[in-house]
Amino acid sequence: MSFEFVSEMPEPDEIKAEFPLPEKYREIKKQRDREIADILTGKDDRFLMIIGPCSADREDAVVDYAVRLAKVAEDVKDRVLVIPRVYTNKPRTTGKGYKGMLHQPDPEKKPDLLAGLIAIRKMHIKVITESGLTPADEMLYPENHSFMDDVLSYVAVGARSVEDQEHRLVASGVDIPVGMKNPMSGDYSVMLNSIVAAQAPQMFIYRNWEIKTKGNPLTHAILRGSVTKHGQNMPNYHYEELKLVSDMYLEKGLENPAIIIDTNHSNSGKQFKEQIRIAGEIMHSRNHSDEVRRMVKGLMVESYIEEGNQKIGEGVYGRSITDPCLGWEDSKNLIYSVAENV
Ligand code: PEP
Ligand code: MN
Repeated sequence: MSFEFVSEMPEPDEIKAEFPLPEKYREIKKQRDREIADILTGKDDRFLMIIGPCSADREDAVVDYAVRLAKVAEDVKDRVLVIPRVYTNKPRTTGKGYKGMLHQPDPEKKPDLLAGLIAIRKMHIKVITESGLTPADEMLYPENHSFMDDVLSYVAVGARSVEDQEHRLVASGVDIPVGMKNPMSGDYSVMLNSIVAAQAPQMFIYRNWEIKTKGNPLTHAILRGSVTKHGQNMPNYHYEELKLVSDMYLEKGLENPAIIIDTNHSNSGKQFKEQIRIAGEIMHSRNHSDEVRRMVKGLMVESYIEEGNQKIGEGVYGRSITDPCLGWEDSKNLIYSVAENV
């Protein structure tokens, strides 16, 4: 192989010792993890909202966003548990473009992955210590999860990774909820089979060890819409579709069946403002059918401080440099309106 070895990564324990999550917040994380688990197992009938920018591109705006979110989260806490979306590594359709803070701690500078790893750990910790909310991230690179497992409360496996064996096997040993997205093609059996795999005990090699896992009963589904072979976005949040997925899901006999609906991506066709209408429709569907209500346990929303998106280099504080997001006022109103309709 013709790799150029750029820098040797420290062990997860070394990074964790150098940048620890302060003791007080470890308790907060444990408590939040318990509450999130209770929602997914059905012990707690509150609703989850995983909300934040498509990519967490700069620490100052992301922490500012999380602090704003924490105030709203406090107001709705009896009905909604809010998880800030702090996405530090981005899958790219063609492998080109901004791959998140892990690759580029500064989006305008060259990739530096060691600096990126430290920057994302520090950002996750700062989000927690400033807002009291423990974040969600995408588990794009399964081997990196052990650098962040003590600071994250939720991970998603993306539409481009969900058919991958390594993601599924690692998810089986993760002890926080893992949301498996439907693949780009929209094939539900791929999504459901990934849940089967991740809920089962597995053996594999991880970071130079042969290891065993017990299976993760909190692995569940995320619907993000799909793309046809002609490039058309096909939503999958409508009522009939939810009934269909729910039936297929229940037939599998999986533990803790649960669906989170991603309101952006192919569900909105990236018409980000549509997320408000889509969320409203989902809450209506939940209130119409007990089966849908039991299955649909949360939303994932793309939201930031300034609405829309921008090109890298434009430098608008708090505006997405990847997918377009709802702005802060709309986001705040959306959370209140979801809480009213749970
Ligand atoms: C995302 O959540 O920003 C994302 C890339 O999602 P998906 O994997 O559904 O495309
Ligand atoms: Mn996105």
